[in-house]
Amino acid sequence: MLRSTSLVLRPVLRKMSVSSTRGGDAKFEGKVAVVTASTDGIGYAIAERLLRDGAKVMVSSRKERNVERAVERLREGGGRDVGGVVCHVGKEEDRRTLLQETVRRFGGLDILVSNAAVNPAVGDTTTVEESAWDKILDVNVKCTALLVKEALPYLRKRGNASIVIVSSIGGFMPFSALGPYSTSKTALFGLTKALATELAPAIRVNCIAPGIIKTKFSSAIWQNDVIAAEAIKNIPMGRLGEAEECAGAVAFLCSEDASYITGETIVISGGMPSRL
Ligand code: NAP
Repeated sequence: MLRSTSLVLRPVLRKMSVSSTRGGDAKFEGKVAVVTASTDGIGYAIAERLLRDGAKVMVSSRKERNVERAVERLREGGGRDVGGVVCHVGKEEDRRTLLQETVRRFGGLDILVSNAAVNPAVGDTTTVEESAWDKILDVNVKCTALLVKEALPYLRKRGNASIVIVSSIGGFMPFSALGPYSTSKTALFGLTKALATELAPAIRVNCIAPGIIKTKFSSAIWQNDVIAAEAIKNIPMGRLGEAEECAGAVAFLCSEDASYITGETIVISGGMPSRL
């Protein structure tokens, strides 16, 4: 079932591009990018940044209304060559539609950003239900690997392609009460390394590990002054991160500036403890 929004198929009338209005450098001119879970938060910021830097971008998430709104916002911001497809990354048919519709509309695929994750369980790791473990590992880890597998035929056709996986600082230092989620994010570091080795040299695979970034996902932290102040004590830079700060790292990893970097993880945390 194709559920690309009507906005996707409507010709873009706005002439002024995001790149011309916000200092984009057109480094992704001619490139096509898919970003999952990109109608809000970090994924949206990544889509906006890639668009600003000249890529054609397909945004996606589970809810059609969110996809429509995101496409609309990106176009209002001057983005051209942006489309949207409804895609729950846990559904094979949705993933296939996302990739097929991207290639049909934009002619290929060069950049894949796997950003979707779920966290249905809060509490001690040993108290988490099996069904929650299944959902976390399924969506966060297995579906990331499957999406890469399904995108490969398209990425291989282009050569010089790039994949970025969005993990979390919790993958290095488990967040308290988020053991299974953090464990799934640790697995993504391993997945990044495995894929990078297998897919080199034509496709580079890298990862980002955001710290606490101000999005809906982390609103329980930043909407509560006491909790936010406590969290900030562990952040040498003394503030939470912005989604755009993750987007910059992703744009770098997908660019020619990172042409000899694969299998690596960039931590974007304001200095929070992660690894040596
Ligand atoms: P967010 O602001 O809550 O945005 C979540 C986005 O994901 C929405 O567009 C949502 O749209 C979509 N989504 C949710 N479940 C989905 C699914 N199963 N399939 C497809 N799309 C889905 O979250 P965020 O903070 O940007 O998080 C993005 C990524 O960053 C996640 O992988 C998260 O683990 C990671 N991360 C975040 C932080 C942080 O502090 N914010 C820190 C470390 C890592 P719909 O509701 O329409 O699906």
